[in-house]
Amino acid sequence: MTFAATVLTLYPEMFPGPLGVSLAGRAREEGKWSLETVQIRHFAIDKHKTVDDTPAGGGAGMVLRVDVLAAAIDHARASQPDCPVIAMTPRGKPLTQARVRELAAGPGVTVLCGRFEGFDERIFAGRQVEDVSIGDIVLSGGEPAALMLLDACIRLLPGVMGAPSSGSEESFENGLLEYPHYTRPAEWEGRTIPEVLRSGDHAKIKDWRKLQSEIDTRSRRPDLWERHEGARVLSASGARREKKD
Ligand code: SAH
Repeated sequence: MTFAATVLTLYPEMFPGPLGVSLAGRAREEGKWSLETVQIRHFAIDKHKTVDDTPAGGGAGMVLRVDVLAAAIDHARASQPDCPVIAMTPRGKPLTQARVRELAAGPGVTVLCGRFEGFDERIFAGRQVEDVSIGDIVLSGGEPAALMLLDACIRLLPGVMGAPSSGSEESFENGLLEYPHYTRPAEWEGRTIPEVLRSGDHAKIKDWRKLQSEIDTRSRRPDLWERHEGARVLSASGARREKKD
């Protein structure tokens, strides 16, 4: 099955961009995913092809018009009725690897890229649009965010990544950061590779990696660690309850 990526944008020339090379580029040539861009401006209703207007209530910048956006979304939905429509916005739900996995398992995704001050808010409820943020930063447009979202989905498509196992141990897949990696040379500028990784003892290596993963998550991402610990405590008490019942 081909994963259908549709991108609604004022800058279609930004696509496939980085998704045209390496893993994603090859996967597209192999038909594992397809890309269609939709120029939002084509759906403007006046002769000047206006897509934006001044913010209601005043203030700086311009806002993308809801009628223009709706027409572009309706056009995309006509050819991809089963794909969720996701608008990139810093006001959205933070993107997670779990959501990426769900999307990658589905028929595809239609991504709406904002510009200027963003979208007229009525588009979200009016067209069942999901709001997604790629982090607590502000970009000048949704296109780089769309590229990120698509990249994350594409690498999970069947047959895209070399070793199927390399996905499952990665950061966030089990709620933790991945352990650190090393490769040759064994010594570089006086710095060595942790001894255990050269021991050949696979059980010990596994334990070391698990411990590092926990230590690093705890110190670098206390937010992830807390959630991980919370989930662990919950499932442990769930298990106890089950036994009692
Ligand atoms: N005025 C808005 C920012 C607009 S930035 C605000 O303060 O919330 C212009 C466009 O860039 C947005 O419409 C969105 O599509 C995109 N964008 C910027 N930052 C983003 C982020 N963190 N995640 C996803 N999209 C983002």
